[in-house]
Parts: sequence; C-alpha cells; structure tokens
Amino acid sequence: MNQADTEIVTSLLQSEGFVPTGDEASAGIILLNSCAVRENAVDRIGNFLQQLKGRKRRNRALVIGVLGCVPQFEKERFFDAHPFIDFVAGPDTYRSLPSMIAQVREGARVVRLEYDHRETYSGIDPVRSGRIGTFLPVMRGCNNSCAFCVVPVTRGRERSVPFRRVVDEVSKLAASGYREVTLLGQNVNSYHDAEDGRDFAALLDAVSREAPGMRIRFTTSHPKDISRELVEVIAGRPNICNHIHLPVQSGSSRILELMRRGHTREEYLRRIEMIRSIIPGVALTTDLIAGFCSETDEEHRQTLSLMEEVRFDSSFMFYYSVRPGTWADRNLQDDVPEPVKKARLQEIIDLQNVISLERYRQDIGRSVEVLAESESRRAVSQLMGRTGTNRAVVFDRGEFAPGDLLQVHVTDATSATLVGVTAGAA
Ligand code: SF4
Repeated sequence: MNQADTEIVTSLLQSEGFVPTGDEASAGIILLNSCAVRENAVDRIGNFLQQLKGRKRRNRALVIGVLGCVPQFEKERFFDAHPFIDFVAGPDTYRSLPSMIAQVREGARVVRLEYDHRETYSGIDPVRSGRIGTFLPVMRGCNNSCAFCVVPVTRGRERSVPFRRVVDEVSKLAASGYREVTLLGQNVNSYHDAEDGRDFAALLDAVSREAPGMRIRFTTSHPKDISRELVEVIAGRPNICNHIHLPVQSGSSRILELMRRGHTREEYLRRIEMIRSIIPGVALTTDLIAGFCSETDEEHRQTLSLMEEVRFDSSFMFYYSVRPGTWADRNLQDDVPEPVKKARLQEIIDLQNVISLERYRQDIGRSVEVLAESESRRAVSQLMGRTGTNRAVVFDRGEFAPGDLLQVHVTDATSATLVGVTAGAA
C-alpha cells in the first residue's frame, strides 16, 4: 500500500512541477513514506532520519518531510522528537503536499494528520514504477480492531473506490500494456461500492472480464470476509490467479479471541476446506505471529499443527512486538519472554521451510504457466517470472522477454523458487 501511495504522491508532485531525482545528494526535498506496522520498520525510519539530520545541518534549504503511518500513529510527539523535520503528513492528506512544501519554504513547520474518511485518491493517475505488473488500491482503511494492529489508527475507517472507476482503471492499464494488476486493500474482500453496495466478488468478476488478457491478483483478505461467492468467481474466471493470501496469525482459538480476529481456528479451517473444494490446486499463504500475549507452549503447538494441516505455500512470520497504543498494549501483558518468542518463531520458520519445499517440489516434472517479469538477478541469460499460484520461477530466457506469458517445464525447486526450462509460449 505504501508503494502505491508513493506512486500517488509522485504524481501529485509532478503535476505541480516537481521533478524526481535518482540522486539523493542533489535532492531539494526528501520525503520518507513510513510504515508503523512493525517495530522493525519504525526503527528503520528512525535510523534513516539520523542520517538525514547531518545533511539538513549542512544544507538548511533542504526540505525533509515524513509521510504515512509513523507520524499518523505517533502524532505530534514524533514531530517534536525530530526538530529538523520540516513537515509530517498522514495518509489522508497527500493532496495538500504541494501547499505544505510551499508553507515550509516560507519558514513554517507543518503538521497535517487529519483523517478524511472519504479520501481514496481516485482520479489521480499514479506514476507507476512497474512495467509488467502494477498495484491498484481499491479500498483504504480497516473497520476491524485486531488487538495487535495499528492500521485502524493509522489508516482510519474503510472506504472504497467507486466500482466504475476501478473497472475503468483496469481497462486503462490493459490498454497501456500492463499484464498483471494487484487489487489492493488493507481488507480488500470487504470492498463495497458506497453507491450501490456491489461487493468484492462483483468487482473481481467485472475487472477480470474487462481485461481478459491481464492477470488479476488481490491482497489482503480477511478470513471472515471470504465468501463462497467470491471463491466461485476466482474459480470461474481464468485470468484471476489461483492464490489467496489469508492471514491466520495463530492456530489457537483462545489466542485468536485475544487477538480480536473475529474467527476461531475451526472457522478458519472450514474456510480453507471450502476454498480447496472449489479451487483445487489453489495456493494459500498466510501471516503468523509467534509469542502473542500469554501464549502457552501448547497454544504455540496448535499454530504448528494448523500449519501442518493447511500446508501453506509460504508465510510472513514474525514474533510479537507490542505496538504502543494498540488494544493489546492497553489491555494485555506482553508476557512471553523474548527468547521464547524467538525460539517459537524459529520453529515456525523451520516448519514452513519444510512444507514450502515439499509443495514446490510437487511441481517438478510439470509444465507451469509463467508471466516473465524481469531478468534474473543471478544471470542476464535467465528470466524470473511467477506462476498464477505466485511461485517464483527462474528459467533460461531463450527468445522470451519480460511481459511474455509462457510455459515452463519445472526441473528443480527450492523452498522459495522453481527452476525450469521454457516449453513455448502459453
Ligand atoms: S484486519 Fe488486518 S488491517 Fe485490519 S485491524 Fe486486523 S490485522 Fe489490522
């Protein structure tokens, strides 16, 4: 979402005459788009700001602004703690960036952190960084209140881009040569058009029909909002990728309740069963948190057993770090010792690696459809692409180029990549 927001910010500034530079040393304005979702990301922004402090001392005319979730979450105290920052801007205020910069150049320090529950930035043509695939935000914000999460505070209430506008955008992307689009939202499957209530299943169906030559992906979905109707649309439309990212966070119903996730282990598993019965061969990925407040060894083992049962293709795995101001911070004790959290996380990672390797190796000997995305990092004679199930594939390029859809015969696999040889155009 931050990458998509940065593309919007770039567009807003370019239309006012600002020019991006690839050379940080020559920049007159430096904007950091920050993420508050994990402690690690916040620390990285802090480290980067320390580097900028010296530069600002040497060049008083340099304008430094911090955008996004960190100032939105930490409010004025973030601004006060970094006196060399010229302005901070929350995620709903980007349309005002040119005027904020003008105010700074007149000597002011500016704080803009108000929410705008209607802002979706629809109508702005982002300066897209990708050429083969791109992101398209279709909704912003989140109405859930997961105990560990800062998003409801940083991004505010849910709002959706009008249905017709999303479909038109996808049509434009197809006409400009994009081969893949990922529909984005913090809770994308709770999308609904404010005018007529059409939901995410209807949107996905319409988008896939509008651009039948494009691959359609979406992220991130909430388990409680995965409807049978939505899964049937995915199964029925050939250009919607058979991959669902469905965060579970824990395999213990007690911990899920403490996390305020709105579903139990059993309900999650029933959703998985429903999805697999409608889309055989679907790839499922997830997010997992080790060592949430009061998690016991037995509850940790329930997470491992859920992983064994579902057999996710891959997972984003973290150990719990309390985010100040969240419900968990205010109401629960972060009482699992850090060494225990780390040991549990390692067990989760080790198990996921075993499962991923096993699942990826199942593709050896098969032909898979791949959208070539770029040259491989290892050799220019090779390309890297992805299957519809979102598996990375590396193969000798032959006569193919990024943007081509082709068949690759898989000859080998690691737990993160398939290796193969081209078997012709798809
Ligand atoms: S659904 Fe996702 S974004 Fe919303 S509060 Fe829960 S974890 Fe955060």
